[in-house]
Amino acid sequence: MSKKVNRLSRLGIMGGTFDPVHFGHLVAAEGARDVLGLEQVIFIPAGRPPHKPDCEITDPWDRYMMTSLAVASNEFFQVSSLEIDRSGPSYTIDTVQAIKGLYPGAQIYFITGADAVLEILTWKNVERLLSLCCFVAATRPGYQLDELWEKLGVLIQFPKQDILSMEVPALQISSTDIRRRVREGRTIKYLLPEPVEEYIVKHKLYR
Ligand code: ATP
Ligand code: MG
Repeated sequence: MSKKVNRLSRLGIMGGTFDPVHFGHLVAAEGARDVLGLEQVIFIPAGRPPHKPDCEITDPWDRYMMTSLAVASNEFFQVSSLEIDRSGPSYTIDTVQAIKGLYPGAQIYFITGADAVLEILTWKNVERLLSLCCFVAATRPGYQLDELWEKLGVLIQFPKQDILSMEVPALQISSTDIRRRVREGRTIKYLLPEPVEEYIVKHKLYR
């Protein structure tokens, strides 16, 4: 038997805490898939995010399960436990490198919100990161892209073609707001897929 080679050539990575995953994440991933013609988008729930060290974060496997439930109905989406399986904090550069190893030759698009792309581009190794993948920043409809370029411009010299942007209509949804709503006993319906909502109720998360 020959070694299995993954021959996908255009691949998206959707990284996040996914605590919990919601329609904002899904709309961004599907938008990028559609616009960029991606063959797969891999959701990678963070193990222990280096930028969220002090917050209390839901068990990684609960987040993994919720993400799996959320992507089940999309044949182009899959979930990877790569960051959860690793011990210690995960860095985007390591994750992208690992995916590169699994999909040799693939062009990789790292999908983020505009807020996260700003954060990421202040990290160390950003030049190396940009040599490995393109960034796709999801922005609000009507968001002035110049704002993003302006903020980026003062932080780092980068080739503009490595950072793409894309308008996403569901951008106002956030995990923070969903967690707060659950805590306050308010509705989270229509903010995230029903199976995820059922999982939250069943496992008494975010109380
Ligand atoms: P939290 O409120 O806990 O920070 P979050 O809603 O921002 O959660 P994350 O898991 O932190 O979700 O985000 C994962 C990725 O998805 C990040 O790149 C983030 O910018 C992006 N993202 C989050 N919410 C949206 C949204 N509504 N639309 C598009 N992208 C989003
Ligand atoms: Mg966030």
